[in-house]
Amino acid sequence: CGIVGYAGKVETACGKPLEVCLQGLKRLEYRGYDSAGVALSAPGMERVAVRKKAGRLSNLVEDIERKPMPAATVGIGHTRWATNGVPSDVNAHPHTSRDGKVAIIHNGIIENASQLRLDLQAEGYRFASSTDTEVAAKLLGKIVDTIIAEEGKPDLFKAVRRLARMLEGAFTILATDCRQPDIVVGARHDSPLVVGLGDGENFLGSDVAAFVAYTKRALEVDQDQAVCVSADKVIVTDFFGNVVENPKTYTVDWD
Ligand code: GLU
Repeated sequence: CGIVGYAGKVETACGKPLEVCLQGLKRLEYRGYDSAGVALSAPGMERVAVRKKAGRLSNLVEDIERKPMPAATVGIGHTRWATNGVPSDVNAHPHTSRDGKVAIIHNGIIENASQLRLDLQAEGYRFASSTDTEVAAKLLGKIVDTIIAEEGKPDLFKAVRRLARMLEGAFTILATDCRQPDIVVGARHDSPLVVGLGDGENFLGSDVAAFVAYTKRALEVDQDQAVCVSADKVIVTDFFGNVVENPKTYTVDWD
């Protein structure tokens, strides 16, 4: 339902990614939601740090206040409006790969999720939730593993593009991999995604409300495009990796 993302400098892990995600989710509350969650990555993490709760955003915030989350360089946040699976803590996003190194959030509905789930189950994958999104999370983890086997290192941007080519239905997705804590990767098909351009930091949102408190410079990700965002760089491609030169930027007219 609501999506926010943040990429800051990899030299300085801090509380900003979490702050931006929670603040962005608050701004996106007007869309309505039934659960909320965040995922954070920083250099040295063995797994992505994930926290998620059914109910009000304040449930998530209180949970984090009770048990603080680690400093991070990048983060993603989601408010869920359940379509596949009841509203619950396990069904809330982010969802993670089998090894917990990759986390994903998703708006929309993945129409071929049941078939993809069966295929993954046949290979021994187990599912904690009944969402379509967890299928994408497990599949993305598998694709990253394949890329590591082929190329010797993870490549989340390439993996998200491969994933996007396999999904049917409507989706905006954002993903983080703790082995690449300098980037957040997104992709969209029939669902919106906007980049907020900062100074030494960049933002992502399902709409500009997610980041307008931090920057009014924006870049619209077009249909069937993927984006790789770090603190000082934004790369837009199609789902096959062809780079979009000079993507259109604009200033948000907002008071
Ligand atoms: N289909 C996903 C789910 O049910 C995402 C729903 C949304 O857009 O929030 O978890």
